[in-house]
Amino acid sequence: MSAPLKITILGCHSATPKTNAYPTSQIVEVRGQLLLIDCGEGTQVRLRENSIKFNQVKHIFISHLHGDHFYGLIGLLSTLSLLNRTTPITIYAPEGAQEILNIQFKYSGTYLSYPLHFVELKSTKSELICDEEKFIVKTIPLEHRVYTNGFLIVEKEGKRKLNLQKVEELKIDKAYFKKIVNGEDVISDDGSLIKNEEVTFPPDPVKSYAYCSDTTYKPDIIPIIKNATALYHESTFLELHKNLCAKTKHSTAKQAASIAKQANVGHLILGHYSARYKNLDDFKAEAQTEFENILLAKSRKTFVF
Ligand SMILES: [Zn+2]
Ligand SMILES: [Zn+2]
Repeated sequence: MSAPLKITILGCHSATPKTNAYPTSQIVEVRGQLLLIDCGEGTQVRLRENSIKFNQVKHIFISHLHGDHFYGLIGLLSTLSLLNRTTPITIYAPEGAQEILNIQFKYSGTYLSYPLHFVELKSTKSELICDEEKFIVKTIPLEHRVYTNGFLIVEKEGKRKLNLQKVEELKIDKAYFKKIVNGEDVISDDGSLIKNEEVTFPPDPVKSYAYCSDTTYKPDIIPIIKNATALYHESTFLELHKNLCAKTKHSTAKQAASIAKQANVGHLILGHYSARYKNLDDFKAEAQTEFENILLAKSRKTFVF
């Protein structure tokens, strides 16, 4: 089995934090690496509450500069310095984030113990922003009151897997196993060629995770997130308050489900609930009129795919 794709919700409510209703942040574990997406106020406390080894985070993705997605960043970065971190961090964020943080560092006399790199996002088209050994990250241009991107995390294809029964049958020596897993063909003892596909299974299917918050209903994103293993899509409102979506540039649970259905994703995780609602099951019920596989984001909840 390949490493699980894990999404841990640190906060999933909209702008006004309350007890047990924290602003947006999540940790994604992809092929063993931890990525932080958005960093609302109190994120560093949530990381500790969830026993996440946040010193291992090397990439931080910020969707937009509204406080409920961003105000926890200066605190987290400062704490990492107090902990004497030396590993670099790269922040992928809209234009302005670097300037804001630098002013905060300057006037608080903060000198970081580690290098901080910025990838400034300003394109309105989807672009590849991070290309690591085992995964890539692309932007998902969203439509909100300020410049906003979602993020699509896609695993890279792993190695083929050895068919133990077959290699035994063909009496292939163990010394060749590493080469076979790396995709090479083998010459058997009698000199005949054994093609790699004969002695291996295909690699595990790649998994992907699309994060879309905050945004109005935007069908343009469907081709970008098509067939994703899981989609997180904001659902600030229920249908009762659909009229507020145009003004605030948010979505309803039903609209999020419509995007999930059209994009043929595996699961839809709802979140970014407005503080006006008491019962989150209503979000699930409305969304399920459009799309079956609905999950509700809740603080401290981990989804594994
Ligand atoms: Zn928000
Ligand atoms: Zn916002």
